[in-house]
Formats: sequence, C-alpha cells, structure tokens
Amino acid sequence: MFTLPKLPYNYNDLEPFIDEQTMLVHHTKHHQAYLDKFNATLTDYPDFQQKTAEELLENLDDLPQEIKQAVINSGGGYVNHSFFWQILRPVSNLSKQEQLENYPQGEVAKKIDEVWGYEQFKEKFSQAAVSQFGSGWAWLAIDELGELKILSSSNQDSPLSSKMKPLLALDVWEHAYYLKYQNKRPEYIENFWPVINWQKVEEIFLRTK
Ligand code: MN
Repeated sequence: MFTLPKLPYNYNDLEPFIDEQTMLVHHTKHHQAYLDKFNATLTDYPDFQQKTAEELLENLDDLPQEIKQAVINSGGGYVNHSFFWQILRPVSNLSKQEQLENYPQGEVAKKIDEVWGYEQFKEKFSQAAVSQFGSGWAWLAIDELGELKILSSSNQDSPLSSKMKPLLALDVWEHAYYLKYQNKRPEYIENFWPVINWQKVEEIFLRTK
C-alpha cells in the first residue's frame, strides 16, 4: 500500500501566494483520491506493489494493458503531487523582500544560466504553464542526455514516462488555484515564483548526476 506523504510545512505556510484552504483540499482530498485509486488499481497485482510508484511510471510497457491507463492517471497523480509538495517552501514568516527575491541556487542555477538565463527560463516556464490546454502540469526536467527541458504535460502524465527526471513542477489543474485565483491562471503562475524551494530543486538536481 502506498501512503499519503506529510507536507514538509503547514497548510497556511504558503500564504499569501497559495492559500490555506487550497493546500488543505489539494492535499487531503485530491492527492488522497489519487492515492486511493492507485492502491485500488494495484489490489490484484502484488508484484507491482513491491515497486516504487516512480518505477511503475518509468516502465509503463511492463504493465498489463488493463491497468496501464489507471496507473498513468492515479499513479501519476500520486507521484506528481508528492513531488510538487517537495519543491514548495514555507514563506509566510519571511519579509516581502525575502519572499520575492527567490532565485535558483548552486549547480542547477549555473545550468539554467547556461541554457536560458534566469529571466528567459522564467518566461518560458510560465508560457508552458499558461498554454497547457486544460488540466496538466508545467515542468523543468532533465532528459536522458542530461539536458534541461521545459515542458508541459496533460492530465497526470509524468515526465518519468518519457525518460525524464522532474526538477521543478507546477500543477495547473483548476483545483490547484481556483479557490483563490478563479479563472486567472496567469496570476496563479506569477505567484508561484516566491514559493519555489530552490534549495530542494538543487538537491534533486545533484541526485540525478
Ligand atoms: Mn493537483
């Protein structure tokens, strides 16, 4: 049985950028629902329960046809949210300046600078998030060759299934922002930058090497 990971901060710690109610519902209802469906999908498949959820998404061709799409949807939803919580940071106790001056660190910062420069990276990532039609995610990921890629994905499709490792993610399903931002997805995306945990992104990046 897979389990719901605890958040590494409180539900109100991302205020005012992501509100407490959204975090609460997102974690305890949406993430929980993906988890419950994922566990139900694997009930009759004890061998696959022994793998990590990430391994299942990385090797979709190994799955029986009758559960493949359910693993993509519910396993993807489970893994994507578990990842997303990790790359957010508590900011409610920081000064306005500390909240807004939030930039990539370390090796991943160097790599972003080499490929795009920070401002162009920010623009391209935001564009990927804005233009994802319907529900999905925007990603910064590292591909098989070690190159950084900005991409978007539909529904709960994971970059892991395309031989990429996620470094940064933004959930652009309406459930991620509708309570606070209603239909204003661009405003939600603009308010994502202060709550990125770049130290965690750097840790994840170093683990891919
Ligand atoms: Mn979500």
